[in-house]
Amino acid sequence: MLSNCPKCHYPLNHPFGLIINEKECSGCLTHKEKDQIDWSIKAEELDIILAKFKKQHSQYDCVVPVVGDAEDYFTLSKVLAAGLSPLVVCVNDYFKNDIGWHNFHNLITYFDVDSFVFNPDIRVYKDLVRSSLRKFDHIMLPFLQLHTAFPVHVAFERKIPLIIWGQNQAVEQVGKFSHYDAVEMSRWSRREHDLFNVETEQLIGNGAQVDIRNLNYYHYPDIKLLSHRGIQGLYLSNYIRWDPLAQNKDILKYGFIPEANMSSFDIYERAGSSVYYHFHDLLKLKRVGYQKIHDHIAREIRHGRITSDEGIKISTIYNHRKKNIKPFFDWLGVTKTGYEWFKLHRLSEYQHLICESSYVECENKSNNLEVLPPRISEMLAPSKRAEKSFVVYGKGVSI
Ligand SMILES: [Zn+2]
Repeated sequence: MLSNCPKCHYPLNHPFGLIINEKECSGCLTHKEKDQIDWSIKAEELDIILAKFKKQHSQYDCVVPVVGDAEDYFTLSKVLAAGLSPLVVCVNDYFKNDIGWHNFHNLITYFDVDSFVFNPDIRVYKDLVRSSLRKFDHIMLPFLQLHTAFPVHVAFERKIPLIIWGQNQAVEQVGKFSHYDAVEMSRWSRREHDLFNVETEQLIGNGAQVDIRNLNYYHYPDIKLLSHRGIQGLYLSNYIRWDPLAQNKDILKYGFIPEANMSSFDIYERAGSSVYYHFHDLLKLKRVGYQKIHDHIAREIRHGRITSDEGIKISTIYNHRKKNIKPFFDWLGVTKTGYEWFKLHRLSEYQHLICESSYVECENKSNNLEVLPPRISEMLAPSKRAEKSFVVYGKGVSI
């Protein structure tokens, strides 16, 4: 049995579950639907669905959960183009750098939308991050719990009947469902795909001094109440031919700032995070055996901008890039001894990927990548580097 897809190189042990035959994987197979579907019919279907939710702007028509990512700009632009009145909801993950906050503030001011930023109790949040790191080698689970539950609470409490997400990762990455199925948001899918089967309860206890009453918004609302209220959550990627790199390049006109990172050529996805291409990516490697660059390579091979062979060359280079992990431990309040212990005992196999000097120095020493095919480089744009990482709160918006 093959352990990797011969076409996109995704491994069989992809956390969402992958099926591989001698030619391709389930993700590659589902991707082909993008060229078979008549997207104008899908757009009409979407119009019909959204029309049901369109009110006379006396209240919000939908909740749009965002992080300030490039994809959020695309999603929000589509929601507004459809004539809906959105309430934008952002959960602060406390990992944003200056670029991340710029992109979020610019998103809500450019599009002139009402928004909520939920700042969870940082002491509780850090406890959960610490415990999630210790138990699951994962530092984003507490955020993912909130990001996938809080917008649903907002929809429920404010009687807003629709939540609009961008892409359905399980369809886009591993082809778990067909685009034709138009799967919707559900508690099951959240647990299975967003949370890797970890529920909030598993993050507490065993050291995490967290009172269960502080965790209301980490839990998904009661399913019975939700269905009684008729709250629906849909993914735009089921109705629009989803091509992140092309879409994200196109949203630069709205003032989004792409961020350069050493771990991938994708300067749009999760730009503005102090951990995503650093410690989070290193832990992804430890947990599942591959880094974020493989998601991007698989995606671009399927979109025809990278050949299968080029994908291998590109990944070889990025796989050796160093990550800046110390700032995360400083943010968490871990002592120097604690940091050294963690590296020695929990990251012993990955020492060569840890940047020990200044990150700029590590960047300068890293091998330059000249193998990016023109079909990729023409999708990129001038990007910036973060000046300040782990900016805990936004500066507020001045108009
Ligand atoms: Zn594949």
